[in-house]
Amino acid sequence: MDCPNHCNPANADWWERFGYHRTAAFGEVTRFACRTCGKTFSTQTFLVNYWAKRLVDYADFHRVQAEGTSVRALSRHYHVSPAAIQNRFDRLGRQMIALHTTLCRAATAVEDVCVDGFQSFDVSQYFPNNITLATTRSTLFVLEATHATLRRSGAMTEEQHQRSTELKSILDFEECAIERSFTDILDRLARDRPPAPGRPLILVTDEKLEYTRAFRKHPLYHCQDGQHRFIQLQINSRAARTRDNPLFAANYIDRELRKDQAAHRRETACHCRNVANGMMRLWCYLGWHNYVKKHRIKAPATDTRTHARMAGIARSVIEASRIVAYHTRAFLSRIELSHCDMQAWLKLSRTPLKKGRDYLPHYASG
Ligand SMILES: [Zn+2]
Repeated sequence: MDCPNHCNPANADWWERFGYHRTAAFGEVTRFACRTCGKTFSTQTFLVNYWAKRLVDYADFHRVQAEGTSVRALSRHYHVSPAAIQNRFDRLGRQMIALHTTLCRAATAVEDVCVDGFQSFDVSQYFPNNITLATTRSTLFVLEATHATLRRSGAMTEEQHQRSTELKSILDFEECAIERSFTDILDRLARDRPPAPGRPLILVTDEKLEYTRAFRKHPLYHCQDGQHRFIQLQINSRAARTRDNPLFAANYIDRELRKDQAAHRRETACHCRNVANGMMRLWCYLGWHNYVKKHRIKAPATDTRTHARMAGIARSVIEASRIVAYHTRAFLSRIELSHCDMQAWLKLSRTPLKKGRDYLPHYASG
């Protein structure tokens, strides 16, 4: 990846042919070699299906996964193992992170941003989580997502209380996880939607003290002046969850995730068994929500505008980028990811009780 030809080759003839090999999935594949560093590659190197033995139509996979289908149900549908399905989620999740990183700064609509935590759990109910999401207030375009594992609290039986106390004593739970999550979101907003003259950055949140603490500590708050205002609008979380509620966007995406993501449905056998895998599936879903799904289910059939389109990104750009995302492999070295997105891409989020880090194929880090 250090080769100058990796990103912007200076000469069109930077490569030469280097024989071929046969594969069951793709037939005869021609290889090439870089004239500068000698590294070999093939046309497959630049496809989402790189190194995959079983080909998947990602546009089809994207649609099916967004309809509340669990990993095991997908494995039955595609006649492959659950691990192969998660591998496709990982590939598509990275493609969606790259697509979003490239396009989200083109969202020109001037509007507030709702930030709130979606609550679910990983591994077992002893490990509740909080996935903080930033969503634009009017156009419902999701900007960022970040995960935190929390300590279990609330009503428990005596036995559950004992187990919970035991786990808290042997495991390292992150301190101030909600505050850290909120700061991650603010860092992304500072990069992509900084306040500007005549366009203050207004955050709509509930009254969590952690949010206010993080808000007051952030450079966006300290560095504001008359031309660059950063404002927090707090809404009581018990206010009616209607369309008029300023936190409607947060309530809306919360409901959609609960409905469309099998792992987040309440009282079922489905739940996230691995945090990093769950975040990849979430990014697949958010990519679907922003760039594929119609913004209104009741809109006329001819109105196919997506949330990204409503947020101000040109239709032609969205359509072209979507085709690229389903076919052409995104390289980590060619995009500038936020901290949260880097965590998701490299699968760095730790799963409670799991020893060691998650497996990351070599091709994902290039
Ligand atoms: Zn090279």
